[in-house]
Amino acid sequence: MNTKTNSEKEIKAFMSGLKRRNPGEKEFHQAVHEVVETLLPFTAEHTKYRDGYILERMTEPDRIITFRVTWEDDAGQIHADRAWRVQFNNAIGPYKGGLRFHPTVTQSVLKFLGFEQVLKNSLTGLPMGGAKGGSNFNPKGRSDREIMRFCQSMMIELHRHIGEDVDVPAGDINVGAREISYLFGTYKRLENRFAGILTGKGLAFGGSLVRKEATGYGAVYFMQNMLNHANDEVKGKTALVSGSGNVALYCMEKLLHLGAKVLTASDSSGFIHDPKGIDREKLDWLIDLKENRRGRISEYAEKFGCEFHEGKTPWGVKADLAFPCATQNELHEVDAQALVKNGCIAIAEGANMPSTAEAIEVFLQNDVLFGPAKAANAGGVAVSGLEQSQNQLRISWSREEVDDRLKKIMENIHSKCVQYGTREGKPVDYKSGANIAGFVKVADAMLAYGVV
Ligand code: NDP
Repeated sequence: MNTKTNSEKEIKAFMSGLKRRNPGEKEFHQAVHEVVETLLPFTAEHTKYRDGYILERMTEPDRIITFRVTWEDDAGQIHADRAWRVQFNNAIGPYKGGLRFHPTVTQSVLKFLGFEQVLKNSLTGLPMGGAKGGSNFNPKGRSDREIMRFCQSMMIELHRHIGEDVDVPAGDINVGAREISYLFGTYKRLENRFAGILTGKGLAFGGSLVRKEATGYGAVYFMQNMLNHANDEVKGKTALVSGSGNVALYCMEKLLHLGAKVLTASDSSGFIHDPKGIDREKLDWLIDLKENRRGRISEYAEKFGCEFHEGKTPWGVKADLAFPCATQNELHEVDAQALVKNGCIAIAEGANMPSTAEAIEVFLQNDVLFGPAKAANAGGVAVSGLEQSQNQLRISWSREEVDDRLKKIMENIHSKCVQYGTREGKPVDYKSGANIAGFVKVADAMLAYGVV
């Protein structure tokens, strides 16, 4: 029996055990499958990880806290939503990972995000374990006061489980500066301590410069590293971006800084295609629309006279580069085929798991440079780590200092992917490189601790 068949059988056996233990959690299954595909062959050659049962232990969260969040809306109606904190693994540092508020949030979604976060945080080189949390609360259309009451109620339970040396949450989908401020204010009130227990805080109370921009900037820095490694550059390229939230907006900004032309942006209602490019002035308008006025992307098309494609994603538009920055499973096999057909040469995932397994296969088969989320979007959590360091030291670094550190971290992540993902006569396999490099550090720490 050849090695390939052997490892396919092993992957199947591993996944059938995981599915039995975690029934119905399809996002979690997908995220683990993508990782064990690379790691089972790796651990076959490095048997200490097998002997230590590391993959089995690493795919089981340390703990999951589930709780009810009761709150009252402006009309006096009472609501009971469900919230979770999945503390996945703290082998290399306190738990760290965002909070997401979205009706699609389930335990499975948070387990996939928490699992990915473990490897991503390890890749940054900073001492951070992995976690994720959030709620199925839908903040769309809710007033500021309603959001505030929800955040306060959530923190009444969450404060027992977090702390600067225990678990430090951050933002994610629908959890931005406003929500972090409400959550932080409530923690401070409940515990009577001013401590760096959340990241993404306002600049007046312990936040870091460049945190807001970090994930989007980092994704473009990662792209720049991939292209430079292949003797190419970002300058002069056309780019597709999906989403128009925190990650997407600052991904667009950095693309403009580096001389690329951004053709698209989207939200959950569809995408806009601006063949003239989203320039600085249009981007400022879009940032104001999304961050302050909380408007819809279709308003961009009305304002600047371009096409709005309702209910569609941007992957059919011809461009050199693609940055999926909205949500999981937003880029399917047919989208990947369309991108390849249209001459796209590289993808950097700003969102978590935006490409399906079949889409990734299309990229790898066609030698498209593929920067997976855990490497390409690690800039956000990296600057969160820098925010924690500044809080501990009680100092604030300048914008240049934080941005330089972010660049350096993205460069190091890229080098680690190259170290483990280089293939003879083929482009670097960044997916395998990121999985192995992220795994090794956490696994070595777990082995060192013995059987705990
Ligand atoms: P935001 O809430 O700021 O923005 C999310 C964007 O994606 C919005 O444009 C939203 O549109 C769109 N979107 C959300 N859900 C869907 C959906 N189901 N279908 C289509 N579009 C959707 O979130 P972020 O920018 O912070 O996060 C985006 C992605 O990046 C997520 O995958 C997140 O996990 C990941 N990420 C975020 C980091 C961060 O620092 N913020 C760090 C690393 C990864 P609409 O407004 O219409 O809902």
